[in-house]
Amino acid sequence: MKLTIGLVAKPGTSIAYKTGSWRTGQLPHFAQLKCNSCDLCALACPEGCVTQVEKGKYQADLDYCKGCGICALVCPIKEIKMEAEVR
Ligand code: SF4
Ligand code: SF4
Repeated sequence: MKLTIGLVAKPGTSIAYKTGSWRTGQLPHFAQLKCNSCDLCALACPEGCVTQVEKGKYQADLDYCKGCGICALVCPIKEIKMEAEVR
C-alpha cells in the first residue's frame, strides 16, 4: 500500500502579512457623499480590509489593501474611485 504524506499550513496567518506592501500603485478613494451603506465594498474586498467607520463612511486599511479595485467595481453608485498612490 502506498503511503502519501501531505503538508498543511497553519491557518489564519494572513493577518500577520501586511498585504498592503503588494499594492498595485492604486488606492481606493471613498467619496463619502452618497454612500447608502449597502456594505458591498466591504463584502467584496478580498482582503476584508474595508470597514464602516460610521453610517455612510467607509475606509480601507492601507496595511492590507492591495489596490485591486474590486471595491470600486462593485459599488453600485460609483462612490469609490481608484487613484494613483503617491509614495
Ligand atoms: S482596492 Fe481591493 S484590497 Fe483595496 S480595499 Fe478595495 S477591494 Fe480591498
Ligand atoms: S459599495 Fe458604495 S454605496 Fe455601498 S457601502 Fe460601499 S461605498 Fe457605500
